[in-house]
Parts: sequence; structure tokens; C-alpha cells
Amino acid sequence: MELDCGACGACCFNPQSNVERGYVFYVEIDDPRSKLVRDRGMKRKFVMQDEDGRPHLRLLGNRCSALKGALGKHVRCAVYAHRPKPCRRVKPGDEDCLRARREHGL
Ligand code: SF4
Ligand code: SF4
Repeated sequence: MELDCGACGACCFNPQSNVERGYVFYVEIDDPRSKLVRDRGMKRKFVMQDEDGRPHLRLLGNRCSALKGALGKHVRCAVYAHRPKPCRRVKPGDEDCLRARREHGL
């Protein structure tokens, strides 16, 4: 089965294992040159810092603040060109992808 990320978005949610542990920092932005941390507007909208001051993608509920659209229907990433490395690592059909989809009933 071919998976269409534009009709999914499941991996842009905090995984269930994090939610169960109350862990709200799910994707670290480990590149200090990233526009996400250098641009004040983007930082305010899409970034939050953990207790040690490390930047992570901001969540709205359990959902990445940069994810636009309706889960499982039509989605897009508002910061696609600047998305952090962990976002780029997930590939359609890999273990993380399938886990995320299962968690959202997709
Ligand atoms: S990588 Fe998988 S879980 Fe993530 S958006 Fe694409 S199909 Fe969905
Ligand atoms: S930055 Fe984009 S690709 Fe990464 S979790 Fe958020 S919406 Fe998904």
C-alpha cells in the first residue's frame, strides 16, 4: 500500500508513549542555525523550550503547532523547508510511521 503523507499527518503528533509519561517535548530542534530558532516570529509560533532551555517543536495539545489541516484527510507542514532532522527521518511505511498511524486509527 502506498502511503500519502499529505493525507495523513499521524507522525506529527506526540507519540502515545510520551503522552503516557506526560512528556511534552517531542522533537528537539538541535540545529542552532535553524530558522525555527533564529526567526522571532517562527520561534514564538512553533517552538517551546524545555527546563534546560533546549528548543523543541511546540505542541498544541498533542499535535505539532506547525501541522495544518485535518489529520488523515488533508494536511501540510507550515515549516516544511525548515523542519528539524527527526521530522525528516520518518519515512512512509517505516516503523515510526506505522506506529503513529496505528495510534491514530489510520
Ligand atoms: S510518514 Fe507515515 S505517519 Fe508520517 S505523515 Fe507520512 S504516512 Fe503519515
Ligand atoms: S515540523 Fe512539520 S513535519 Fe515536523 S512534526 Fe511539525 S508538522 Fe510534522
